[in-house]
Amino acid sequence: MDKSVAIIGGGPAGLMAAEVISARGVKVDVYDSMPSVGRKFLMAGKSGLNITHSEPFEQFVSRYEKRRAQIEPLLKIFGPNELQQWVHELGIETFVGTSGRVFPTGMKASPLLRTWLKRLTDSGVTFHLRHKWRGFSPEASGGGLSVEFETPEGEKVIKPDATVLALGGGSWSRLGSDGAWVPWLEQAGVRVEALKPSNCGFDVTWSPHFRERFDGHPVKSVVLSFGSFHQQGEFIVTKEGVEGSLIYAASAMIRDEISARGKAVISLDMTPDRSIEWLTEKLSRPRGSRTMASHLEKAAGIRGVKAGLLREFLTKKDFASGASTERLASSIKALPIPLIAPRPLDEAISTAGGVTFESLDEYLMIRSLPGVFCAGEMLDWEAPTGGYLLTACFASGYTAGMGVLKWLDS
Ligand SMILES: Cc1cc2nc3c(=O)[nH]c(=O)nc-3n(C[C@H](O)[C@H](O)[C@H](O)COP(=O)(O)OP(=O)(O)OC[C@H]3O[C@@H](n4cnc5c(N)ncnc54)[C@H](O)[C@@H]3O)c2cc1C
Repeated sequence: MDKSVAIIGGGPAGLMAAEVISARGVKVDVYDSMPSVGRKFLMAGKSGLNITHSEPFEQFVSRYEKRRAQIEPLLKIFGPNELQQWVHELGIETFVGTSGRVFPTGMKASPLLRTWLKRLTDSGVTFHLRHKWRGFSPEASGGGLSVEFETPEGEKVIKPDATVLALGGGSWSRLGSDGAWVPWLEQAGVRVEALKPSNCGFDVTWSPHFRERFDGHPVKSVVLSFGSFHQQGEFIVTKEGVEGSLIYAASAMIRDEISARGKAVISLDMTPDRSIEWLTEKLSRPRGSRTMASHLEKAAGIRGVKAGLLREFLTKKDFASGASTERLASSIKALPIPLIAPRPLDEAISTAGGVTFESLDEYLMIRSLPGVFCAGEMLDWEAPTGGYLLTACFASGYTAGMGVLKWLDS
């Protein structure tokens, strides 16, 4: 086919679109602002590349919550099973971890990306690095849009037959996705929901003593409750507040509550395996000359950062004198911790907000910009960690690729 397609953004979503389109013999050029593509994908592999999840499809799609209706059709075309099959076709085996999460053997992203990029290059895809997309050219006319780049050699303008934008969200900007595209798309009449941190940590006003003493300490294993959310897991105390998988899992609800009410109070059960009656009985035994800290440790196994948290959020009287054993026991089972702000977007694992689905057709083409498609994290959806992020990025890249082919055919 004598047509050319520009893919802007060489992350998982853009590369998947490139693969689908080039497989049909169409000339594909991938542009990326960074000196190499797939940097966030490689970073995702640093702590074990959780590519997807093995749970039943019905449960899988429920993870996209408010955007399930928009993401489910994409996953029905290219979902968790197709993704695993695709990884296998690249010559990389996968395995299911104890939590049901799926990883490539070796856990890293680099062997997968290396093989994938070779396959793309072999099929004729051309990569243009250090090309930063700066929006659409004002002199766009005569059908089709001109696309502007800033390159080391100066400004460059191209006029492809179709364009896929796969620019990522706004976190970890040093890896390329800086969210700078938001105003450029808004200027072109596209509705974009403000970018927000997702799978993020939160600020807590720790006392100077607690911050100094417990920065970096893991808190495990606890149950975090927040509204309808109850999950057992662990998190880390940081200088600024709290981070880690258990916090990330509840982060969308907590973020929205802070945005609506100025703060959110989570509740921690620090002894999930012990009942309140057991604790009350143990704590009401005579402590003799022991300090409260040593009594808590001997009687209930509460020590270190957990004891620190109790001391941080109970009044001195309640903690030190043990005035009421019931109150102490109920605080251990449901310690309220006020969170005051999400950590900045740049620190988040992923981004909520982005190009709204109302601006797109079912092939992810921007309705007001015919021939321009969007895919990946830059779309307005969010999901917890567990492989759901990458799966939806691949799936949307796949659908955008199919959409481009349909558009070129028409
Ligand atoms: C530390 C970390 C760990 C993670 N672990 C996992 C995990 O295990 N499992 C999982 O499912 N997800 C994980 N994620 C999330 C996952 O990596 C992202 O959701 C995914 O990479 C997004 O893919 P994307 O293609 O939409 O965007 P990106 O991967 O962000 O790619 C966007 C590309 O666009 C380029 N770009 C941006 N703006 C421009 C511009 N103006 N001009 C030209 N190019 C531009 C960027 O340089 C970049 O290469 C993790 C994220 C982080 C930060």
